[in-house]
Amino acid sequence: MSATPDSAALEALLPPALRERLQSLKVTEAGVAVVVLDASGLGGDERDALEAAVQEALAGAASEVRVAMMADKPQRRLIAVGSGKGGVGKSTVSANLAVALARMGRKVGLVDADIYGPSQPHLLGNVGIKPKARDNKLVPVPSEWGVPVLSMGHLIEPGKAIAWRGPMAGNALGQLIDAEWGAIDTIIVDLPPGTGDVQLTMLQRYKPAGAVIVSTPQDLALIDAKRAMQLFDVGDVPVIGLVENMAGYACPHCGEVSDPFGQGGTEAAARELGHAFLGRIPLDMAIRTASDAGTPPAAGDGPQAEAFTTLAHAVADWLDRA
Ligand code: ADP
Repeated sequence: MSATPDSAALEALLPPALRERLQSLKVTEAGVAVVVLDASGLGGDERDALEAAVQEALAGAASEVRVAMMADKPQRRLIAVGSGKGGVGKSTVSANLAVALARMGRKVGLVDADIYGPSQPHLLGNVGIKPKARDNKLVPVPSEWGVPVLSMGHLIEPGKAIAWRGPMAGNALGQLIDAEWGAIDTIIVDLPPGTGDVQLTMLQRYKPAGAVIVSTPQDLALIDAKRAMQLFDVGDVPVIGLVENMAGYACPHCGEVSDPFGQGGTEAAARELGHAFLGRIPLDMAIRTASDAGTPPAAGDGPQAEAFTTLAHAVADWLDRA
């Protein structure tokens, strides 16, 4: 090669299929062609084939050809779990939904965005383990149940209250979501309860693919849940459906099932609002004790696990269709 080749001339040598993936082609003074390709969605073999095709197309036209593949930005989907108010079991449902999905073989992570009462490390039994940082990114804390977790609780000192405002909470959430999630492709986000600014900023900055709304069967809780649904509408986040938690109480002594908060309210509300009903989780002492012990009931073999598996199937079906 005598003269330095012209990049446009080299580009013209690439077949159309390669040109479609071309991000840039530059020629250095030394006559080295530096080709940057978009390799999104391609496996290792396909990348190798792409590189070989570039080398072949430009062979002889440049003194050397260097091919760089732009690393894929992994396609991760966020599923927000929200509720109109606190105490309805949103965190319990988030943790157990994540565990049940992981049991089904899904690669699921959990982000605890509940700034008012981060409880996921407690629910997954990894309290006190601080996430490490690598290349300025947090590395999620593994749990025994195959679900790595990052919590707002990891970013604040225990016992320290922070008056979060929307943008601040959005930035903090960003650190949890843009973390080193590795092979995880679905992240369950336990949102703060309620429908304020903080929640809206979070939704707008880190737009979830869909939202699950947790309610108890009480009328009042349902009114709050409807408000939560409006929040997702405003944020343009599709509602996957509603979950009724604390539905029906099984007496641990006699086994009689009663309905302290009424029954079927959430299902009726879902129907009325044109959303799917994803399932019912009973009010069960075993759910509370297992949760308190850091052993998510969804990881066990009891009837409690079944309720969460049903929910996980509904969410997995939605993910597969979306
Ligand atoms: P939230 O995140 O909505 O504030 P939590 O998930 O922290 O609610 O749940 C509040 C309390 O209720 C916790 O003590 C939890 O163990 C308990 N709880 C949640 N769901 C159930 C259930 N289905 N049966 C029994 N206890 C439950």
